[in-house]
Amino acid sequence: MDIKRIYSELLDVQLSVDALRERVDELGIYSNSIQEKNGSILFLVRSDNGKRLVVLKEGPVFDSFEGEELIKGGVKICPLNEANSKVLRTLFPYTAPSSHSEHPITIGLGDRLGLASVGHIRLVKDYPVFPILAQQSIRELNLTDRTYNDVLNSASWAVFQEGYTKGFGADGDHLKTPEEVDMALDKGYTMLTLDCSEHIDNDIPDDSPSDIRSKYNALSREIRERLEEKYLGKTFDITDDYSISFSLDDLMKVVLVYIDAIDFTIEIYNRHIKSLNRPIDFEMSIDETLTSTSPEAHYFVAKELIDGGVEITSLAPRFCGEFQKGIDYIGDIDQFTNEFTAHFAIAEHFDYKISVHSGSDKFSIFPIIGDVTQGRYHLKTAGTNWLEAMKVVAINEPDLYREIHEFALENLNEAKAYYQIGADTDNIPSLDTLSDEELPALFDNPDSRQVIHITYGLILQAKDEDGSYVFRDRLYGIWNRYEDDYADLLIEHIGKHLESLQIDKS
Ligand SMILES: [Zn+2]
Repeated sequence: MDIKRIYSELLDVQLSVDALRERVDELGIYSNSIQEKNGSILFLVRSDNGKRLVVLKEGPVFDSFEGEELIKGGVKICPLNEANSKVLRTLFPYTAPSSHSEHPITIGLGDRLGLASVGHIRLVKDYPVFPILAQQSIRELNLTDRTYNDVLNSASWAVFQEGYTKGFGADGDHLKTPEEVDMALDKGYTMLTLDCSEHIDNDIPDDSPSDIRSKYNALSREIRERLEEKYLGKTFDITDDYSISFSLDDLMKVVLVYIDAIDFTIEIYNRHIKSLNRPIDFEMSIDETLTSTSPEAHYFVAKELIDGGVEITSLAPRFCGEFQKGIDYIGDIDQFTNEFTAHFAIAEHFDYKISVHSGSDKFSIFPIIGDVTQGRYHLKTAGTNWLEAMKVVAINEPDLYREIHEFALENLNEAKAYYQIGADTDNIPSLDTLSDEELPALFDNPDSRQVIHITYGLILQAKDEDGSYVFRDRLYGIWNRYEDDYADLLIEHIGKHLESLQIDKS
């Protein structure tokens, strides 16, 4: 709909909320977004050029937004830009992210495209789940050509659109450097996930005992004496029937694998986070590494961090088995259950949340997570909102989907530089053999899922010789047109996650 035509119409609705409510469909208004504030009326509308904020009636609120005054002092059409996002968050604090430490179940949903939060909100509003709507790693920012401002602004506008007032978080995910941490904090992010993978020594578990001893002896005597006195010959009770102790061999190994990661985390926390005058949910992640975290290692890392002054909100160990993106858990379920139970007990002992990453589609272990934790955890689902967005394309624009699917297969090797997956393309049926109606079923094929899952950056960034996007603009056009269909797919897909985690509606 042409926005100017809409607002010549608005002249005769007498600018009252009741009158607007009667005409939301006709005027393209998102009905849950209608708000009155200090004498002005605000709401979001759909238009041919994307969503816009409309502010009616002169006053301080009207004046505070940038935009085109269609009718002087009466109707202003405002872009959803950075300046207006800031004003929105000041006027309506629920559109700004907040700390989640008081909420037992928190789920990182993320929104690679800036379009998924609407569906996420429509789902979680009925559940005792605090959503981290904005959650992006630097890798994802780079691969999607977005910024932290943009990611947060998309979440704020989705919250406003849906009239969702229960709060949400913003996670600077898998940050690796002090500069990245400062950037996320500067943009108002409320959660920080510090990725320590580059400070973990993955060679140690394969080293010979004599190598381990000589590497250990190369540490300063002061450090060795402090740690040996603290950990050797002691029993650390975790629960009534579970305790942890360390032999010298155990201790040497965990020290050598994790000591740099611990020092790095303490340094980042004390220098960049501790002095802030707002609460930050701080997560230490040691998940993206080859070495799976033993319960002893988890205990050691946590104890050192806490004794070093770090306030941990959550910690993400590397669990046994494989957590590949977008498909179910691969591994021994009994072993996972035992180790997860131990990791959870350690997290409870120190009073922080256990965090599970790459948690999309891990349906075979969700019931275990729900059961063992009795509803206290942080779960990051990552990127399946992208897969659902591509399913929208497969359903509604099969020709474009076919083009993209072939492109993804052709460029798979390049994408594998960023994401490790085990997809076997021989298991993906050739598109020539599939009718249009059969295309959506490709999203039930694990190998096909993974191929589309990891090629998102290449798909979104592909350009012609003349510099224009090959797919990106067409894709966003489709996603805007099928916004409600996309939301419905997310509600169904993420809804299955909540059900499998045994979360009851609130
Ligand atoms: Zn992770």
